[in-house]
Amino acid sequence: MSTFQAPKGTYDLTPPRSATFLAVREAIAAPLRDSGYGYIETPGFENVELFARGVGESTDIVTKEMYTLTTKGGSQLALRPEGTASVLRAALEANLHKAGNLPVKLWYSGSYYRYERPQAGRYRHFSQVGAEAIGTEDPVLDAELIILADQAYRSLGLRRFRILLNSLGDKECRPVYREALQTFLRDLDLDEETRRRIEINPLRVLDDKRADVRKQLTDAPKLRDYLCDACKAYHEEVRALLTTAGVAFEDDEKLVRGLDYYTRTTFEFVHDGLGAQSAVGGGDGDDGLSEMIGGPELPSVGWALGVDRTVLALEAEGIELDLPSTTSVYAVPLGEEARRVLFGVVTELRRAGVAADFAFGGRGLKGAMKSANRSGARYTLVAGERDLAEGVVQLKDMESGEQGPVALAEVAAELTKRLG
Ligand code: AMP
Repeated sequence: MSTFQAPKGTYDLTPPRSATFLAVREAIAAPLRDSGYGYIETPGFENVELFARGVGESTDIVTKEMYTLTTKGGSQLALRPEGTASVLRAALEANLHKAGNLPVKLWYSGSYYRYERPQAGRYRHFSQVGAEAIGTEDPVLDAELIILADQAYRSLGLRRFRILLNSLGDKECRPVYREALQTFLRDLDLDEETRRRIEINPLRVLDDKRADVRKQLTDAPKLRDYLCDACKAYHEEVRALLTTAGVAFEDDEKLVRGLDYYTRTTFEFVHDGLGAQSAVGGGDGDDGLSEMIGGPELPSVGWALGVDRTVLALEAEGIELDLPSTTSVYAVPLGEEARRVLFGVVTELRRAGVAADFAFGGRGLKGAMKSANRSGARYTLVAGERDLAEGVVQLKDMESGEQGPVALAEVAAELTKRLG
């Protein structure tokens, strides 16, 4: 072990578990790519003001959890705590919304940073794959995103997840509800910090987990009763589309997911095998974000799925992904001359698109064959001086155990053929 360890709240991805992470990222990305979403990549840090405005000055993410830094040049930057604000900034900066093809559909994948209290499933560095659809307000788009996330989880074999669904209203009805809620909350017996929250972000108070607060919230006004007709119709349409697609969901009118500019559809994917940090992904519509960061009025909707927690969910369900071995051919040279010749064959195979590896370090046959086994390769190539003198290598099928000589000049073609 070295003197250093991964910083608190972080962990390293190492083989073989890292292969599962790659597969999860790929499984989430694949349905998006197949549905017209283009890949976007933004910097790992942004101007701190982007998040202050785009995530919201009153949120825990911005007030407590952001990693901020001042550069030598005096710029205030923050490591990105989430993806939406950066993606929207980048889309606006590149004028993607003016290219005449709305909605702008984007997907992303990367690292995010929050200074949170670490616990199982909650880290200070974590990984998300996300999607945003910008510029069009259409319940089909909300449904599409939820269906694609559901498809991603199902393709991984996950079953014990649930989809919680709610509508947060829009610019018309949301403020009316907000005021009614504030009036109700101001009369309750609450501590100072919660009282402040009432004025800044009252919906968050509904998230309070403390029993004495929960008890007082029983008769709180319900958002559902304040939704305008347009929002009701929109939400009914999203629900109907999900039902038609065979995607089960639970109406959860307590689901508010924090941010103040979230509008209309809000949803969360929760997994029942994860304990306290049960949210594996979530998403929302938002009407205000673009304007908040200085852009035009543009609606958007999107989600972010946590890769770390999705891997934990797989483990909780005992699912082992069927990951094909990365190495198809393993070459074992016996002697100096064989090293040169077999390394040549390996290079040729690799150039032909066959995944091949090599027993480095001049080990004996026994040790090298162990490595060949461990590599999961379907075929092993072994060559010693006598083989080379005869112009052949020994080709072993690791599944059937069959072994025989193949002419050196033909071995690459033979393997390419056998591996299809
Ligand atoms: P949020 O932006 O908070 O809605 O997060 C979206 C998803 O990212 C969550 O559902 C989690 O799967 C994941 N996530 C958020 N914060 C963390 C964290 N601190 N550690 C691990 N995963 C996280």
